Amino acid sequence: TSTRPTVVLEGRFATELPELAIPWQAEAAPDPRVLALNEPLADELGLDPGGLRGAEGVGLLTGRSVPADATPVAQAYAGHQFGAYSPRLGDGRALLLGELVDPVGRRRDLHLKGSGRTPFARGGDGLATVGPMLREHIVSEAMHALGIPTTRSLAVVGTGRWVQRERTLPGAVLARVAGSHLRVGTFQFARATGDVALLRRLADHAIDRHHPGAAGSDDRYAALLRSVVADQASLVARWMLVGFVHGVMNTDNMTISGETIDYGPCAFLDRYDPATVYSSIDAEGRYAYGNQPAVARWNLARLAEALLPLLHEEEDRAVEVATEAVEGFATAYTSAWSEGMRAKLGLPEQVAPDDADSLAEELLGLLQEHRVDHTSFFRSLGAVARGDTAAARRAGADGAAFDAWFRRWLPLEPDAASMDPVNPVYIPRNHLVEEALDAAVEGDLTLVERLLEAVTDPYVERPHLERYAGPAPADLGPYVTFC
Ligand code: AMP
Ligand code: MG
Ligand code: MG
Repeated sequence: TSTRPTVVLEGRFATELPELAIPWQAEAAPDPRVLALNEPLADELGLDPGGLRGAEGVGLLTGRSVPADATPVAQAYAGHQFGAYSPRLGDGRALLLGELVDPVGRRRDLHLKGSGRTPFARGGDGLATVGPMLREHIVSEAMHALGIPTTRSLAVVGTGRWVQRERTLPGAVLARVAGSHLRVGTFQFARATGDVALLRRLADHAIDRHHPGAAGSDDRYAALLRSVVADQASLVARWMLVGFVHGVMNTDNMTISGETIDYGPCAFLDRYDPATVYSSIDAEGRYAYGNQPAVARWNLARLAEALLPLLHEEEDRAVEVATEAVEGFATAYTSAWSEGMRAKLGLPEQVAPDDADSLAEELLGLLQEHRVDHTSFFRSLGAVARGDTAAARRAGADGAAFDAWFRRWLPLEPDAASMDPVNPVYIPRNHLVEEALDAAVEGDLTLVERLLEAVTDPYVERPHLERYAGPAPADLGPYVTFC
């Protein structure tokens, strides 16, 4: 129908790792309509935003019209879901269209979610709906603006197809951009084939794309593992510092690139509480906010197991190498977290690390005990450093215990000017995301656009966005996410 897009897509994953790729086609969208287009990202990728809105662009964004030499594939992966191993997950409703190289030479995956059933679909319908795809668009762009590594959303296109869930909902396809979609589960799948040459090819592909520093090492696969451990430790520390709860940290939802991936039942903390769980399916709280570092480490141990045949010829020695690499998580995580918390508290360099950590831990204990809103409180600290405690009190940090904490912290001369740029005013608060998605499902995108305006510039307070800054109304009740 439409002419083929002129964008150049490589097929590196498909050619280098054919055992992990099933060539496949997207389903047609009966009446496609662009619901969200990320123009800054399009520019960054060297794509013309105007062109993406046209027939040819929409053909690309829904996968129906791809460049002549492109090979869209469904990617194979395995994974531990809530601790239980599934040998064959894979892209059940997603396709990798190919890799594109942006104008500064960065190579990135262009991937679709909700593009129809694939051979990995099992019982699923292969589809996605407007609400969850716009949630991924909003939250991933917020994470990017917060400086947290993440997959990006290029566009959400409504398909014009109705999708059966608990009720009938409008369908959508998300066009996602990522360093790659290599997951811990990709390595688990390759390992389970028993083909060590394939596992090595996958590891070499991952080194080349994401961990080039490991290439020169004489133990390159151990170096790859150490590098993934370091990147994930730093990523999860950033989640913790901003109050992000991923919600479904299965090993198939953890990348090798160190990017956050798969925004399903994710949510941000309102009140600070390590036991916070939002996901309706996480009955035992495996993926609670406070468990995320431990789960990340557990997932990385699964990656280490998958890599064992590459780590050393002797199994005992391989296990030692793997164990040592995974044990690096604790130090890397703690140092990333402490550094980030020091910045949030505006603490100058002279403050000893132990003093900074104990001050932070005492504070978190108070926030939990007094049920204080995480984001509002940290944002208010810049004002407290300037002598104005009103906002902190409004956030719930009121009373003798907080006064005592302030009296310990203020003499350390926190640098107020450095704090606002690391403590956001705007995050995609749960009640705001919900409100915006509800309206979008009814066809009104204005709240999505307004919320995006707030969260894509999270550190700069703007008066007309005041209602996006505060905590949820107290009478809203507990928040539950579904995926
Ligand atoms: P997720 O929980 O989104 O990370 O997905 C876990 C697995 O279920 C992946 O293999 C997905 O491709 C698959 N999946 C999720 N939803 C669907 C669907 N509607 N149709 C087919 N496969 C799906
Ligand atoms: Mg997933
Ligand atoms: Mg998913």
